Amino acid sequence: MYSTTFRPKKRFTAGTIRYSLHKQAQASLQSGINLRQVVRLPDGENLNDWVAVHVVDFFNRINLIYGTVSEYCNETTCPTMSGGSRYEYLWADGENYKKPTALPAPKYIELLMDWIESIINNETVFPVSTDIPFPKTFPTLCRKILTRLFRVFVHVYIHHFDRIVSIGAEAHVNACYKHFYYFVQEFDLISSKELEPLQEMSSRICKD
Ligand SMILES: [Zn+2]
Repeated sequence: MYSTTFRPKKRFTAGTIRYSLHKQAQASLQSGINLRQVVRLPDGENLNDWVAVHVVDFFNRINLIYGTVSEYCNETTCPTMSGGSRYEYLWADGENYKKPTALPAPKYIELLMDWIESIINNETVFPVSTDIPFPKTFPTLCRKILTRLFRVFVHVYIHHFDRIVSIGAEAHVNACYKHFYYFVQEFDLISSKELEPLQEMSSRICKD
């Protein structure tokens, strides 16, 4: 069973630039200013640092969101990682799943979250100190992480939104989605084809 308790929140070290960027991003959100502006790279900051803090923050937040529906997401309710009848995602990681493989949604999401967690905890990919440069593969990897995280939104919105509504978390999830959507749009991090399953909703809630 999926458990958020085994997935400790990834934190930034106090006193680092990434920590202050993280705090800056959090503070902007709390003051309720325009999300489209909030996602912009602050003057003089490094894009990789900015992307790194957002990838980690979105991972933490989407992990919690999925945690609220995970009880209702099992092999019976969700035998495939789908987003309605039109979209189904296959898992491949080049190791245990060399070929794209159909999996029940909870298994797919567990593998996806484990995969992201191992990357963001890998200090050669997500260096903890700004003295250590990001690898050249960093931008490509972040695009892949965000593309896969988006699929969790697809699954949650299309298959488990009733649960989100019943616990009164709709506004919270929508706010997280909007922030995520504006962020990936600002830096063109997810292809429009991947964004398609939620395009109708995005055009409805991401107007301002
Ligand atoms: Zn499900």
